[in-house]
Amino acid sequence: MRIAVIGGGMIGLALGWRLARRGAAVAVFERDTVGHGASHAAAGMLAAACEAEPGEAALGVLSRESLGLWPAFAAEIEAASGCSVGLRREGTLVVALNRDDAAKLRHDLAFQRSQGIDLEWLTPGEAREREPYLAPQLAGAIFSPGDIQVDNRAVMAALRVAFQRAGGVLHEHATVERVATEGGCASGVVVAGEVHAADVVVLAAGAWSGGIDLPIARPPVRPVKGQMLAVQMDPAAPLLRHVVWAPKAYLVPRADGRLIVGATVEERGFDARMTAGGMYSLLDGAWRALPGIEELPLIETWAGFRPGSRDDAPILGPTALPGLMMATGHHRNGILLTPVTADALAATILDGAPDPRIAGFGIGRFERMRAAA
Ligand SMILES: Cc1cc2nc3c(=O)[nH]c(=O)nc-3n(C[C@H](O)[C@H](O)[C@H](O)COP(=O)(O)OP(=O)(O)OC[C@H]3O[C@@H](n4cnc5c(N)ncnc54)[C@H](O)[C@@H]3O)c2cc1C
Repeated sequence: MRIAVIGGGMIGLALGWRLARRGAAVAVFERDTVGHGASHAAAGMLAAACEAEPGEAALGVLSRESLGLWPAFAAEIEAASGCSVGLRREGTLVVALNRDDAAKLRHDLAFQRSQGIDLEWLTPGEAREREPYLAPQLAGAIFSPGDIQVDNRAVMAALRVAFQRAGGVLHEHATVERVATEGGCASGVVVAGEVHAADVVVLAAGAWSGGIDLPIARPPVRPVKGQMLAVQMDPAAPLLRHVVWAPKAYLVPRADGRLIVGATVEERGFDARMTAGGMYSLLDGAWRALPGIEELPLIETWAGFRPGSRDDAPILGPTALPGLMMATGHHRNGILLTPVTADALAATILDGAPDPRIAGFGIGRFERMRAAA
């Protein structure tokens, strides 16, 4: 089977790798070079537990399924590529800096525990035993042992190798203009006026997925801008070891000493400029939780675009156009959702029946919402 994947982000490349390993002839078409979209910009948190919110039950189930797949998925990419992907299992601390924050956290905790999620309440002393440099006015914390992290940039580098070793073909600097059709089915992609034939086309173009010409309604995906920064810790004596969520910023320590601070959430279209306000709010939020950050050198700032769908859930699986599949709209959890997306889409494409794990996430749900309204 010939499969064309539009977009060389983590979603497109991971799916391409899974398909190529099962013997399909896969070509990934990437407008730029692989791994320069949201998958490069992300923090790499695999946060299925702390992010669980009322009203997102189906997404919570999918997220926890994907989190469970991550350790084996990471080990397989490492074995296939020979590159480390920086999976760290220290877990996540969600910290309260005053009584109001603590009351909110306890409220969230009650809901998350009702979903069967394993979380622990820590007193300020217990939290500082785990992370001694946290702010002295700490009012308590939730510890989530299951919310781990991966170095998303390292994953992208490893996936590139794994995909090509599995026989996948990578077309970089190849912007897909539209999906070609023949006899009412998707028949390939058009790049620089030339048709590249395929039996199945997968739209995995992240925040840009709504901009590609399709013979059916385009997916309702928009860019949700996030600004981030990184400071450099001493890797031999890091200020933090766990991922920490403070009320106004999160902090993600990497093995090489980088400490990533994120992220703003902005509706600015594709405006990638950094702003003084964005940097100020991140630094202020991080400093309130970890005052020692003020001594650390600032080494990088960047912005990326989350692919936000109308209901914040991903858009996965078959469409009204036979042969065209969606793998987009992963919003703030696309790194977390990569293994389940890749496995479920690969099964749907190669086994010919929609994988039950993604049954509720088809693009048809937006039509149904419109009809119901
Ligand atoms: C600041 C920030 C922090 C985040 N933190 C986390 C986190 O901690 N954990 C988590 O799980 N998720 C996180 N996310 C979300 C996550 O990054 C995304 O959901 C995920 O990377 C989406 O992957 P993707 O492959 O769909 O998109 P992308 O990585 O954006 O890839 C899409 C690719 O398609 C290409 N493309 C676009 N148009 C075309 C075209 N016409 N032809 C060919 N190629 C095209 C683009 O160049 C791009 O490379 C974060 C996102 C941001 C912005």
